[in-house]
Amino acid sequence: MIPYGRQHITEEDISAVTEALKSDFLTQGPKIAEFEKAFAEYIGSKYAVAVSNGTAALHLCALALNVNEQTRVITSPITFAASANCVRYCGGEVHFADIDPKTYLLDLNKVRALLEKHPKGYFHGIIPVDFAGNAVNMEAYRKLADEFGCWIIEDACHAPGGFFTGSDSKKYFCGDSNFADLAIFSFHPVKHIACGEGGMITTNNEVLYKKLILLRTHGITKDPGLMHKNDGGWYYEMQDLGYNYRLTDFQAALGISQLLRADAGLIRRREIAQTYFDAFKTNTKIKGQSGVVEGHAYHLYIIETEKRKELYDHLRSKDIFCQVHYIPVHTLPYYQALGWKQGDVTNAEKYYSSCLSLPMYPTLSNEEQQFVIDCINDFLNA
Ligand SMILES: *Cc1c(COP(=O)(O)O)cnc(C)c1O
Repeated sequence: MIPYGRQHITEEDISAVTEALKSDFLTQGPKIAEFEKAFAEYIGSKYAVAVSNGTAALHLCALALNVNEQTRVITSPITFAASANCVRYCGGEVHFADIDPKTYLLDLNKVRALLEKHPKGYFHGIIPVDFAGNAVNMEAYRKLADEFGCWIIEDACHAPGGFFTGSDSKKYFCGDSNFADLAIFSFHPVKHIACGEGGMITTNNEVLYKKLILLRTHGITKDPGLMHKNDGGWYYEMQDLGYNYRLTDFQAALGISQLLRADAGLIRRREIAQTYFDAFKTNTKIKGQSGVVEGHAYHLYIIETEKRKELYDHLRSKDIFCQVHYIPVHTLPYYQALGWKQGDVTNAEKYYSSCLSLPMYPTLSNEEQQFVIDCINDFLNA
């Protein structure tokens, strides 16, 4: 069976987890800080906060930015629902702007048009997504956000190691928080770095960082420097309404070990992308191929074809399990109940009708990939 994505666990990973299990700490111990430091270094951000999963990371970001019933936020409909749900957890209103049909990323011009339709201050935040691993130009988004007084949460779940080139010709890595206020990652097994479950928030903002640390553990602090008084060694203060969104030490140990192979994984993903591109570039039945993109982290390799459903079913019959990313979030029944309907975000809906994510993970062998390619070309050219 060939899935669309899968984790890669080595003997080194297993020893790292075993060692952590034999230590004194199961939940938050020294491995958490070590993972945070290594991840922040890898991404190029000042701070990193490890949490229980990517959804928790999004929720904490929304809380740290004071999202509430009066808050309106713009995001992409072509993402995992959690990118939008984090606003709803806090009672805020989600607005979906359309995607660019070439990059599948939230279209900056569509976001601008939406912002300009309302008085300044109507919208409070933007959540762009580095969809499929393709880096959003955060510099452009920062400019736009500043014009309208919005914050930015970058959903970088698909793109650790991805980058765009700034106007100063420098590389800016996804989640480095040079432009976004906060960025989030997931360590779900299909993502680049697997912890089982796990997530990370990165930021360069010290105030937000301190807030996130507090919110991750019930809003409770034992730091004498932060407490209003100190009754003794047992004393702690709950200063805000937080959650238990902690990562365990043995998951962090796995994350640290996986991070060591992150660059090798990226190289392999780009190789696989190049092979797909070369194999399909002359196939007129396959649309949506723009060549291998610089800085793309290739969490997904997506093709578009009018015979999507037929191709999906055919590949299933060959034990190739492709996937569709994503059903547009605004068409999900929960968001329809909030007033969104089919036809509201047209590029996203058109994309959804033809997209298919092909197997893409570092341990996909050349033979397996060739089998996938042959099955697709044979079926579409038959
Ligand atoms: C995976 C993912 C999430 C959620 O992460 P979990 O760790 O599964 O909670 C959020 N946004 C995007 C774009 C994702 O791919």
